Amino acid sequence: MAEETIFTKIINRDIPADIIYEDDKALAFKDINPQAPFHCLIIPKQPIATANDINEDNAGLVGHLYVVAAKLAAEHNFSQDGYRLVMNCNEYGGQTVYHIHLHMLAGKQMGWPPY
Ligand code: IMP
Repeated sequence: MAEETIFTKIINRDIPADIIYEDDKALAFKDINPQAPFHCLIIPKQPIATANDINEDNAGLVGHLYVVAAKLAAEHNFSQDGYRLVMNCNEYGGQTVYHIHLHMLAGKQMGWPPY
């Protein structure tokens, strides 16, 4: 079980967040430090610390995060223009919150490579 992070506090409504999607398995909310015109984080309600902890048992839940992303893209009208989904892992990946999250960035042309 992952350590409780600020994202668990957001799930439990212990701290505020701009929540834009919720279902029984996932939550999406606006990133507090947006890096694009649209930048939200899509998280599982069940805490999983890092991408290293994804396995056959939770793969369905992780896949669900991508289903939520596709729904949000359709709802916010950026399916066609495109967007970026990123999951950072550990220090070199730039992970700062140890509860996996998909960054969903949209509304501008993204660059590559991402550094
Ligand atoms: P990471 O660096 O990939 O782990 O991403 C963590 C993200 O969480 C960063 O983009 C932060 O801006 C974001 N973040 C941290 N605390 C909050 C919060 O309280 N609300 C919304 N986003 C947050």
